[in-house]
Formats: sequence, structure tokens, C-alpha cells
Amino acid sequence: MRLVKKQHWFKGRLYIVENVEAEVCTECGERYFHATVLDAIDRMIAADHRVKEVLSVEVLTA
Ligand SMILES: [Zn+2]
Repeated sequence: MRLVKKQHWFKGRLYIVENVEAEVCTECGERYFHATVLDAIDRMIAADHRVKEVLSVEVLTA
């Protein structure tokens, strides 16, 4: 298990959440999140929560 920084969509808004538990594939680096972890993030966002920083994000098309 590692702690990673995760992009997380909730109700049409994008959040960046630090220190999220993930399984990271040693072959390709892909990250896997348990459903319980994802549910916990949803609950944290829905409840009162501390905002560390607010970013504006550029969206590009490749
Ligand atoms: Zn892999």
C-alpha cells in the first residue's frame, strides 16, 4: 500500500486528494483504489472539510 495524490470527481467537480491509500502495480505503475477508500473520499468531500489549496486547471485535447 502506498499513499498517493488522487484526482477525484464528485458530483461533476474535480478534487485533488492527497494521502490516499492505493495499491500500485510494480510492473506498470497503475494505481488501484479499494471501494471503501473511494467511498470514504466521497463522504469527506460531502461533509465539512478543510481545503488545503484551490487550483485552476487547464483542460487540453491531445
Ligand atoms: Zn500493471
